[in-house]
Parts: sequence; C-alpha cells; structure tokens
Amino acid sequence: MAHNAIPREGRMVRVSFCEAGSRLLEQFAEAPPRDNTFLEPKDFSDLRNSAFVGIPEWDAFADHVQTCALCGEV
Ligand SMILES: [Zn+2]
Repeated sequence: MAHNAIPREGRMVRVSFCEAGSRLLEQFAEAPPRDNTFLEPKDFSDLRNSAFVGIPEWDAFADHVQTCALCGEV
C-alpha cells in the first residue's frame, strides 16, 4: 500500500515517484493526447480504475507503482 498517502483535498497531485516511476509518468504525459488528459488524485489512488486504463503508457506506470516500494510516498 505504498500509494495510501495521496492527498484527497485540492486538485494538486502531490505524490512523489521514484526515478523509474517518474519516467513512466513522463512517457504517459508525452503520449499522444486522448479524450481525458487530466490527471486527478483519484487516478493515483485507484490506478486500476482510472480513466486511463487501457492506455499502454498508463498501464506500464500503474504496473510499476504497484510493485515499487518507493513510489507513492510523499
Ligand atoms: Zn517506483
């Protein structure tokens, strides 16, 4: 449960990721624009039910975060 420190208030996503996680998130951000390109805190708190599931870059990111002990710590 490394991602349980995600703040629920406000719109800012203040979760930190390790170097590899940051790179994966960057790759997701740089992927071709989709219908929903706004990341919300809930996307980080529920990686498998976010609007981005099915997008390869997001899946790669989600896979990493869920197996990485460093990701999700504030
Ligand atoms: Zn990580």
